[in-house]
Amino acid sequence: MDSTAVLDLFRQSGALLEGHFRLTSGLHSERYLQSALVLQYPDLAARLGDAIGEQTRHLQPTVVLSPALGGIVIGQEVGRALGVRAIFAERQDGRLTLRRGFAVGPSDRVLVVEDVLTTGGSTRETIDVAREAGAQIVGASSIIDRGSDASRVGVPFFSLVRMEVPTYEAAGCPLCAKGVPVVKPGSRTDH
Ligand SMILES: [Zn+2]
Repeated sequence: MDSTAVLDLFRQSGALLEGHFRLTSGLHSERYLQSALVLQYPDLAARLGDAIGEQTRHLQPTVVLSPALGGIVIGQEVGRALGVRAIFAERQDGRLTLRRGFAVGPSDRVLVVEDVLTTGGSTRETIDVAREAGAQIVGASSIIDRGSDASRVGVPFFSLVRMEVPTYEAAGCPLCAKGVPVVKPGSRTDH
């Protein structure tokens, strides 16, 4: 699946909106991304998981590890595509950790999978969880890479789409300057 096809799935499911938005942070953007809205459709989640599986199969992972919550659904689908375990790390006292009996060890080749990579912070933290458990990290992947430098995760990194999402303070927002009405995503507007 090429990046255009991936973005079409996001647009069709309302997971990618284009316009003029006021984000939860208060910043303005011309794009709004909410990957849970595409992943809510299991058939679409499976197609995205297959696509990431194709990109990463050569790494020969033996387990997929994702950060909760955002990475769980796509991690499950990548695990299914690759025919390997899919587990997740979750926060306990502010720190990502393996719970529920999930474990990795020296014989595991771990692929870290997230839905959207922004700063890379949660992927790096997830890599550290596996590394501290003694596992090998063979790579990391996300559906969308919002950043500009994938080397920041420190392992081979793959994404289906690279997409910058610039944000602006209201005072410096070019869309505000043009007088385009601003919308809060998630709120229904009348048509
Ligand atoms: Zn604005």
